[in-house]
Amino acid sequence: MDYQADVVVAGAGSAGMVAAIAAARNGARTILIERGGFLGGISTAVLDTMYAFYAPGDAQEKVVSGLPDEVVDRIEKYDVVLRRPNTFGSGTGITYNPETLKRVWDDLAEEAGVKILLHSFITGAVTEGSKVTGIRFVNKAGSHKVTAKAVIDASGDADLVADAGGDFELAGRDGAQQTLSTTFRIGNVGERALGVKKDELHALMREANKSGRFVLPREEGSVHRTPDKGIMATIMTRVPGTAPDDIEGISRAEAQGRAQAQEYFRFLKEMVPGYENSVLIGTSPWIGVRETRRILGDYQLNGEDVLAARRFEDGIARCGAPIEDHHAGRDTRWAYIPNSGTYTIPFRALLPRNLDGILVAGRCLSSTHDAHASARSIGTCMAMGQAAGSAAALAADKGITPRQVPTDTLLALLDRQGADLGRRGKAASDAA
Ligand SMILES: Cc1cc2nc3c(=O)[nH]c(=O)nc-3n(C[C@H](O)[C@H](O)[C@H](O)COP(=O)(O)OP(=O)(O)OC[C@H]3O[C@@H](n4cnc5c(N)ncnc54)[C@H](O)[C@@H]3O)c2cc1C
Repeated sequence: MDYQADVVVAGAGSAGMVAAIAAARNGARTILIERGGFLGGISTAVLDTMYAFYAPGDAQEKVVSGLPDEVVDRIEKYDVVLRRPNTFGSGTGITYNPETLKRVWDDLAEEAGVKILLHSFITGAVTEGSKVTGIRFVNKAGSHKVTAKAVIDASGDADLVADAGGDFELAGRDGAQQTLSTTFRIGNVGERALGVKKDELHALMREANKSGRFVLPREEGSVHRTPDKGIMATIMTRVPGTAPDDIEGISRAEAQGRAQAQEYFRFLKEMVPGYENSVLIGTSPWIGVRETRRILGDYQLNGEDVLAARRFEDGIARCGAPIEDHHAGRDTRWAYIPNSGTYTIPFRALLPRNLDGILVAGRCLSSTHDAHASARSIGTCMAMGQAAGSAAALAADKGITPRQVPTDTLLALLDRQGADLGRRGKAASDAA
């Protein structure tokens, strides 16, 4: 079947969802294509905590607003949300029940009028020369395509940009790649677990490895409380990186992640107070992939931009998250922006440099490995989504490409819609 739209979005992660909702609210007929059976990508499949709404530090300054705020407000309308102060150094985290967030994504998309196609695997881009004009995909009803006036690649892996011949860096091939993690949730956890401090937990992990009774590849990580009594959630496992198109590699990673989840659960149950009678509720339906293809855009955000708290004239989202690098090995590398500063992400980092008609949003943005390790949190991905969706709607309405959207017009629209563009707050420098 052939579909037609003003805007088509690849991938229903936090970036793609907000992009599709923003595009539809700005008047574009919008179609969103997702391989899974539910919306949210990593935000509902793997995690339960949104970071980067707040910058870390004493002030805990709020740096993401607009449509992402509505997502949190809607979760709070249905359910309890926990704001966990400065947990693990990333600023206040917003912890939610992922089942509630699945419902919120369904509701917001439907209310905005986004046409959702689930169980649909994207196989490539429709192109006219270097212009991307649509998406090819398959599902149980056969092979299809959507043609659209503007295309957004929010697949996390930049699948569309890669297929269209766009330039990208592949983490693991072109430098380091962050590791992968299968997450798991635990039920029937006793109150005593809440009294175990992070340092105590990590000391127990070291002791477990030394005893020879356990094999824990990472001697740190989070087991944290959730809004639901007796339920804890984890980010503990560590699986070596693999390319998104290495299907045998990712298949092995899935099995390895599940095996590690069982091992960490056994460790918690046998060695950590409060877990004696706990049960493993479930592992994430797929392994969490932090970093694969990063597009090469009109601008590549780098680690120096992050640590210098640089502001760009075309900044479309603000971020104060530290560089948080889950490299291979037993610890994690952290680098903080001095004085709780915040930087902005330039619109140019969403524009693949050798393609037209297409934008990206989310973790495949144009960034170096270091900058990516700061800009990839859910709050920032949603803020990028709002910018990409709004720009795509403007492009479709005016009959121009996303690259031709006047920056002033885009920034004014985002400002009216409540986005934080970094015109307030601490900055160390300004850049063009
Ligand atoms: C283990 C782990 C822990 C993390 N911890 C935190 C944390 O605590 N807090 C935080 O804020 N951030 C955290 N992050 C980072 C953050 O969650 C991600 O960077 C962010 O969610 C990425 O959002 P996205 O929309 O760009 O991509 P994704 O959420 O990956 O969404 C991409 C979507 O595209 C779909 N898709 C991909 N390819 C295709 C295809 N070919 N056809 C159809 N659909 C396709 C996928 O199914 C998915 O739904 C973590 C990441 C990982 C992996």
